[in-house]
Amino acid sequence: MKVLLHLCCGPCSIYPIKTLRSGDLDVMGFFYRHNIHPYTECLKRQETVQSYARRIDLRVIYQEGYDLEGFLQNVVYRETDRCNYCYHERLRTTALLAKRGKFDYFSTTLLYSKFQKHDRIKSIGESVGRSTGVPFLYEDFRKGWKEGVETSKELQLYRQSYCGCIYSEKERFYRPGKAQPKRDGIME
Ligand code: SF4
Repeated sequence: MKVLLHLCCGPCSIYPIKTLRSGDLDVMGFFYRHNIHPYTECLKRQETVQSYARRIDLRVIYQEGYDLEGFLQNVVYRETDRCNYCYHERLRTTALLAKRGKFDYFSTTLLYSKFQKHDRIKSIGESVGRSTGVPFLYEDFRKGWKEGVETSKELQLYRQSYCGCIYSEKERFYRPGKAQPKRDGIME
């Protein structure tokens, strides 16, 4: 059985790929770019995925282009709801690619993160699965959080410190009137 797995970044991919492969699934990755800002950060995360994929012999499809403008146009005036749009776009794009490539399932490494809205991702994934006809493979990968963090540190993978969009970067670092947080190191 073949699964197309949306990869949000290198570190978050470690545990889900290991788990899916241990279930005898043939995993291929898909790296989505439009929600990762600025562009240089997107390239840094993509390079990390590329280097990890080489290490574990994983085939990955990398999204072409970089539609920062489209992303912003779709969330402006709805910034507080932006994650719904973002999850939906990433999962829908993954599912459509999976359909074209005749995959049996699609899934996402977003299900690994303790910082994402897990239940919402599950429900959007299932809904996208119904509308595209490709089943969403759900698993709560958060149980491997610690293991994934430790492995990514051992491998010295780049670990980003904010989710992806410019809004999340502001939420992570903008502290009016307070000491600024450190800018290195992933959210933990
Ligand atoms: S915070 Fe993360 S999930 Fe939400 S819109 Fe930004 S990049 Fe997407």
